[in-house]
Amino acid sequence: EEDAALLAGLDLEPEQQAPPKPDPVLAIVGRPNVGKSTLVNRILGRREAVVEDTPGVTRDRVSYAAHWNGRNFTLVDTGGWEHDAKGIHARVAEQAEIAADMADAVLLVVDANVGATATDEAVVRMLRRKKKPVILVANKVDDMAQEAEAAALWSLGFGQPYPVSALHGRGTADMLDAVMEVLPEFSAHGGVIRTGGPRRVALIGRPNVGKSSLLNKLAGSDRVVVDSLAGTTRDPVDEMIELGGRMWRFVDTAGIRRRVHMQHGADFYASLRTQSALERAEVAVVLLAVDEVLSEQDVRILQTAIDSGRALVLAFNKWDLLDDDRRRYLEREIEQDLAHVDWAPRVNLSARTGWHKDRLVPALDRALESWDRRIPTGRLNAFLGELVAAHPHPLRGGKQPRILFGTQASTRPPKFVLFTTGFLDPGYRRFITRRLRETFGFEGTPIEVSMRVRE
Ligand code: GDP
Ligand code: GDP
Repeated sequence: EEDAALLAGLDLEPEQQAPPKPDPVLAIVGRPNVGKSTLVNRILGRREAVVEDTPGVTRDRVSYAAHWNGRNFTLVDTGGWEHDAKGIHARVAEQAEIAADMADAVLLVVDANVGATATDEAVVRMLRRKKKPVILVANKVDDMAQEAEAAALWSLGFGQPYPVSALHGRGTADMLDAVMEVLPEFSAHGGVIRTGGPRRVALIGRPNVGKSSLLNKLAGSDRVVVDSLAGTTRDPVDEMIELGGRMWRFVDTAGIRRRVHMQHGADFYASLRTQSALERAEVAVVLLAVDEVLSEQDVRILQTAIDSGRALVLAFNKWDLLDDDRRRYLEREIEQDLAHVDWAPRVNLSARTGWHKDRLVPALDRALESWDRRIPTGRLNAFLGELVAAHPHPLRGGKQPRILFGTQASTRPPKFVLFTTGFLDPGYRRFITRRLRETFGFEGTPIEVSMRVRE
């Protein structure tokens, strides 16, 4: 009974705790030179994306915010990697596969004047295994006379081909209508969350580290309280706070300001709160207090933040209470217990006096910049090439797994996929992860490196 009341007080109804839903993702795949970039530009209504006459010009997979008929979606252009002539089928199919894995639906573009090639057929076989909606686009149908060529593409087995001229815009409206019919309302594949608007911060930490004191110091007297559900006054309530000349949205500040005193299960409810705040945030500030030993609860909250995949800043509060003895002890604690988050920016501050509170924004900016960052495929592979040449994977039973190439599959946080000829040792993977950080920074964001073994 008491638990039920607590739960009601904490307002854990799913619709209130839900993170913003990501827009559905549409991937454009196809051979080089079939007109993918031209089609991207057509859909976006502009002429920005690079269009080249030379097949195989290196471009990167890029996401764009797009809309049609009042609906938002994310468009992923698979561009192309560099490929040598012989590996072309495999490479095109591979890039298409990564894009298809990230997407809710796929636009497969074929050059109607050329017809279906062996490479197109390799992509078709891969897409069939994915069981995702595919809209087949017969591009370069600039006039009625060419429509017969488009019809020949029925043979690919994805139903009616949509005859389109990406160059002139012919047929693209019908094609987009068809896309809207197959795209779900929200992405089921962790698509890009459209932010715009103030960045969302979760201020978390165990009771008494100084969360509400810090919030008061930051917000000053102009706190703007916003309900996350229009027309309700229930939690979670966020606050818009201006820092460094910009607005920031501190999520679920009601949970910080309204102290809930509980004997039993306090830990459990506090940890639910922490989790739901993290889900709604882009960056976490984990607050620790320097006048007390780093507790088990501190470590647990920190781990929850790391696991959430959000950007991360560590803030050490109550610096005004620090004496020399305590300082030495703290340094040892940081070295021992926080070594695994040495990538997170650290801010020493005092919520009581306001000392260093202006250091928070630069740290948040650095962390979010890393969280959003994409390493171009060309640069990533140059890095991998040098790394592997200098430090090859150790021999295992006479075999040596090779890294064929890598790509950054997503941001927020950055995730990398390595295509390999065999399983990489966990130690070697950690080595690569460490070198990725050393080379590209990524201060303030967790990163993930996974592999796909070919064959
Ligand atoms: P991508 O490599 O698949 O991204 O292809 P691009 O968009 O770079 O286009 C390759 C070439 O095809 C460029 O010269 C484009 O101008 C041309 N192209 C693209 N769409 C059309 C089209 O609808 N009709 C005609 N005639 N040419 C097109
Ligand atoms: P919360 O439970 O994390 O929201 O923590 P509070 O903000 O309520 O702070 C807990 C206690 O720590 C209060 O007595 C605060 O006055 C005190 N406190 C918070 N920040 C500081 C600080 O920077 N220096 C000192 N000396 N005390 C602080």
